[in-house]
Amino acid sequence: MIDKHKPYDCIIIGAGPGGLQAAIHLARYNRAVLLLDRGGGRTRHAAHIENYLGQKAVSGKELIDIGLEQIKHFNVDYEKTTVLQITKEDTFKIHTKDQTYSSPFVIASTGATEKLPHLKNLHLFFGKSFFTCVDCDGYRTTGKKLLIIGNSFNSVRLSVAMKEMFTNDITLLLVNYNPPADYKELLEEEGIRLVYNEPVEILGKERMEGVKLKDDGIIECEVIMCSFGYILNDDYLSEFPLKRDRNGFKIITDHNYETSVPGLFALGALKTGNAQAIIAAGQGASVAININQRLLEI
Ligand SMILES: Cc1cc2nc3c(=O)[nH]c(=O)nc-3n(C[C@H](O)[C@H](O)[C@H](O)COP(=O)(O)OP(=O)(O)OC[C@H]3O[C@@H](n4cnc5c(N)ncnc54)[C@H](O)[C@@H]3O)c2cc1C
Repeated sequence: MIDKHKPYDCIIIGAGPGGLQAAIHLARYNRAVLLLDRGGGRTRHAAHIENYLGQKAVSGKELIDIGLEQIKHFNVDYEKTTVLQITKEDTFKIHTKDQTYSSPFVIASTGATEKLPHLKNLHLFFGKSFFTCVDCDGYRTTGKKLLIIGNSFNSVRLSVAMKEMFTNDITLLLVNYNPPADYKELLEEEGIRLVYNEPVEILGKERMEGVKLKDDGIIECEVIMCSFGYILNDDYLSEFPLKRDRNGFKIITDHNYETSVPGLFALGALKTGNAQAIIAAGQGASVAININQRLLEI
């Protein structure tokens, strides 16, 4: 049982690669660190991470489970719980359903959640042949029959990029979006098939065979790249008027990953920039070193 009165040096929210790496670094300065995580998370859905140095291929689940083992060696307090709100008095107050913890520094590393279409059988293929991230899994579509599903101009851009990098055999399925005429021409020039419809079911058992549409039509495919975007897991930060990007979406930080609220840091998918496991881990290490230096100055 975690002591809610313990004076923590830093509380980390989210045990993805960013939060775990920050916990390891801070605890190795013998700092009092509490890591709060609700479980699940984006990295856990990654079936094959092949772009993480030192790991030829590792599943996200394995990577996180190893991290959770690793923090035990360095006395990190860990609790499986959801953070509901953070407020700030003289220090930060971190509120869960049952407890309130306090700390002068907080690292928000709670990542994002994919927006996905309602598709029967999606769970059978997610992370294996149904992908949502080009940097993560674009490579796995190389030379394959690819269906891109999207609902915005981003999907048009994505299709052209996927053609340049990975495969010539692309169908773009647009849901409730009609691109400008010149982009339709571009898709045609690139040999990318354009379909307007709504997907309802992924077909196949061991192997993806295609997608069934609302009008009962079928598009054959071996892999899907879905481009519906994601939402940030940042509800618990709603008390703070955080500086965001021009769309009011991602959190802007300084080069030390500190947000516009002093003492509150943000990592990984929450902040502007690229979201990859190895990048989040690097940011975690950097934030921890910075917070330790600040603690030395206190
Ligand atoms: C299918 C898929 C495949 C991917 N493949 C790759 C890949 O091959 N290579 C790569 O580099 N990246 C990959 N990624 C991306 C990668 O997983 C993340 O972008 C990256 O790891 C960011 O990590 P993070 O630390 O920011 O957050 P996450 O890994 O998302 O972790 C956030 C954690 O915070 C927890 N949390 C959220 N809200 C709360 C709350 N209120 N209270 C407590 N806990 C909370 C979550 O449960 C989760 O455990 C993939 C992502 C997906 C979805």
